[in-house]
Amino acid sequence: MGQPTKISPVALSKLAKLGIHQRADLLLHLPLRYEDETHLAPIASVQPGETVQVQGVITLSEVAFRPRRTLVCRLEENSHELYLRFLNFYPSQQKQLAVGKQIRAIGEVRMGHYGLEMVHPKCRAVDSDTPLQQSLTPVYPTTAGLSQPTLRKLIFNALETLPLSDTLPDALLKKLKLADFAASIQILHNPTPDIAASTLEQRSHSAWRRIKFDELLAQQLSMRVHHRERSKRIAPKLAAHQNLTERLIKDLPFVLTKAQQRTFAEISHDLAQPHPMQRLLLGDVGSGKTIVAALAALQAIENGYQVALMAPTEILAEQHYLKLRDWLAPLGITPVWLSGSQKKKEKQLAAEHIASGETLLAIGTHALFQQQISFHKLGLAIVDEQHKFGVQQRLALRNKGKFAKSVRPDPSAELRTEGVVEGQGFTENVARQAHTHGVQEPLRGHERPDEPASNSNEPHQLMMSATPIPRTLAMSYYADLDVSVIDELPPGRTPVITKLVSDERRDEVIERVRAACMEGQQAYWVCPLIDESETLQLQTAIETDESLRAAFPELNIGLVHGKLDNAEKARVMVAFKANELQLLVATTVIEVGVDVPNASLMVIDHAERMGLAQLHQLRGRVGRGAAQSLCILLYQQPLSELARARLKIIFESTDGFAIAQHDLQLRGPGELLGARQSGVAMLRFADISADEDLLNQARQAADELLRDYPNAARAHLQRWMANKQDYLHV
Ligand code: ADP
Ligand code: MG
Repeated sequence: MGQPTKISPVALSKLAKLGIHQRADLLLHLPLRYEDETHLAPIASVQPGETVQVQGVITLSEVAFRPRRTLVCRLEENSHELYLRFLNFYPSQQKQLAVGKQIRAIGEVRMGHYGLEMVHPKCRAVDSDTPLQQSLTPVYPTTAGLSQPTLRKLIFNALETLPLSDTLPDALLKKLKLADFAASIQILHNPTPDIAASTLEQRSHSAWRRIKFDELLAQQLSMRVHHRERSKRIAPKLAAHQNLTERLIKDLPFVLTKAQQRTFAEISHDLAQPHPMQRLLLGDVGSGKTIVAALAALQAIENGYQVALMAPTEILAEQHYLKLRDWLAPLGITPVWLSGSQKKKEKQLAAEHIASGETLLAIGTHALFQQQISFHKLGLAIVDEQHKFGVQQRLALRNKGKFAKSVRPDPSAELRTEGVVEGQGFTENVARQAHTHGVQEPLRGHERPDEPASNSNEPHQLMMSATPIPRTLAMSYYADLDVSVIDELPPGRTPVITKLVSDERRDEVIERVRAACMEGQQAYWVCPLIDESETLQLQTAIETDESLRAAFPELNIGLVHGKLDNAEKARVMVAFKANELQLLVATTVIEVGVDVPNASLMVIDHAERMGLAQLHQLRGRVGRGAAQSLCILLYQQPLSELARARLKIIFESTDGFAIAQHDLQLRGPGELLGARQSGVAMLRFADISADEDLLNQARQAADELLRDYPNAARAHLQRWMANKQDYLHV
């Protein structure tokens, strides 16, 4: 075995972004695909659509300026030629690709302006006798600032220096005809020349099957362990007295949809149990989750318990506050408002009311779970748009309700600060994490007398999300949560019409906005997303606002963006809601939850930069009233393949669940649910629809392991879940 390489702090932070927190995680960071650098295709034979490696001599290398600055090179081999084009390039690259250089290039061939070309191929200078690679080259998922070669080196070093012991007993492997773990991992990182690339790409190779099985098994094990553990924890029984809830339902200006009734019944049943509810309420934008949350709150209040309702942004929290205040005032319940932007005195007063129990319903932002806030008797914590919150924040809120003799240390804090440790600390860290994170404890099968969980009382939790994922996926991905789905919209909504408009026709769009606003409608103008820089994003928003003000001198225009102070933000939103402003220029801060039924037109500038979920959420801001709504997606050409696919989907579908399904195909589940950020245990490799057979095997194997091989189960969870185990408990 070799020596583990030192990892620089910068690389560590990049690795953390990829979900790699300890050296062993590198082993399970598997290639996305492979590049075939094992042979050369003659330039004479290449066809558009193929991804190939070619070699030749540069016979032209120049910078073109139209339509945009591009480095264009011509590669010649036996008087056949292929163009290489680079839209972004460095002087060093230009030097590398100078006339006369011999180059090996790998990329996808397409038909371009000059003939056959490769755009942004991977190039390297070679001699006539530079050898070809012996095996396929793995390409790993990575993040900006961490290059493939660096990542590859780290992974290969981990393969050489870490033990690859099998976590599963031989008997089980034989019975299920599964490949050996070590061999599988080696093959996937470093396939031998005899393996067909297609079996790797399609993930049908036995090595892939083994890894997918392992992943599914870990998920099944953790679900069982966690379920066992949750049913040992204690929460207040909040029975349905149907006193306040019935009155609210009667007073509403609308009738609950069937889906709202059903989901509330599910929640109501859970609240009455002596174990903590952990339920996710999934419902598309505008499906009416807020009223269901209000009813859940009332059931807790009927029992004399407090409720905390938390939203990720000040705008949204305030909107909830105003809405619930209106709904609940006739029942004699006054919510208290708590946010970071409040004056110290107001905050103090709110905190006192929460601590004394005088306040039964506290609504606010993450200010609600700061240290100085303590609840008298918290029975239910509701978290809206839960995917926007960090795990740590949700853990903190859960702990608010505990009146434990000894409170477990917040394990995620430790994970955050110590999760990535340089050098050999990694291994020790795994052991420590596995211990503190309870990977071992729940498997013991009996409780320790000092187990704090069973002595403490914790609140029920209701999480809400508009991330519309198919129900079966939700159940699998949110492993341990119970899921309720609102699968119908309130009646009387007219579906939003979506138009795709090229930026060249921006003037027409501007006229359209003017006409709509002059007719009494209200409109949103969503500013371009600029991922790399908040400053640039802000600048763009301000510029957009200025140019629209110039275009529409007759309209009242408001601007909201993330950098605005909260009072100012609220002022603009209130004015828009009151129809004092006709046009709201906004960054994506309005993505979550803002509800202005009279707004029926939305323009999304540079829609090609946004993700599907984001576009869907944004579009959900219109179509809330009875008027026909329109969403215009302004896009800038040329479109990347991915952007084109996204725009097509959003154009063709308004069904959040269908969109999510496509998103899943385009991006994979990790991205879809923001798994890396939210820490939800997710499947990275297995696909529960395609790998149903493996899932069934994993289900059975999980029971068998827990019964007959608890040590193997523990080792397996440690390998796969050391980072995630605690997140499952949130
Ligand atoms: P979301 O699920 O996106 O949070 P909201 O709870 O904000 O949706 O509801 C969207 C709008 O629909 C609100 O104005 C709400 O008052 C209204 N609404 C909710 N339920 C119904 C219903 N059953 N019938 C009619 N309107 C409803
Ligand atoms: Mg909402």
